[in-house]
Amino acid sequence: MNKKEMLEHFSSFEKKFTELQEDLVKLKTNLVQLVEENHQLAHENHHLRQRLDDLRSESESESEKTNGENMQAVGEGYDNLARIYEEGFHICHVYFGTPRGEKDCIFCLKFFE
Ligand SMILES: [Zn+2]
Repeated sequence: MNKKEMLEHFSSFEKKFTELQEDLVKLKTNLVQLVEENHQLAHENHHLRQRLDDLRSESESESEKTNGENMQAVGEGYDNLARIYEEGFHICHVYFGTPRGEKDCIFCLKFFE
C-alpha cells in the first residue's frame, strides 16, 4: 500500500467512523424517548389498574343488592368503560388506556352507537 492509498483508506475510515457516531447519537435519542414513553405508559397503566379495581369493587358491592347478574354485568362493563371515557381515556382497541384529552375519538364513539 502506498502513501496515497493509505491516506484514501484512512479518510474513508474516518467518514465511516463519523457516520457511526451520528447513528449512535440517533440511537441514543431514540432510546431516551423509548424509556420516557415506557415510564409514562407504566404510570398510566398503574393509574388505570387502580381505577379498574375501584370500579370493580364499586360494582361488586352494587351487584350484591340486585339479581339478574348476567345482564347486570354487561351493563356494568359498559358503564365502567363509559366512565373511563368520560375521565379522558381511550376505550377503543386502537388506543385503549391512553389519554384522549378533550377530543372525541371516532373509534371510541363506535362503542356508544
Ligand atoms: Zn379511542
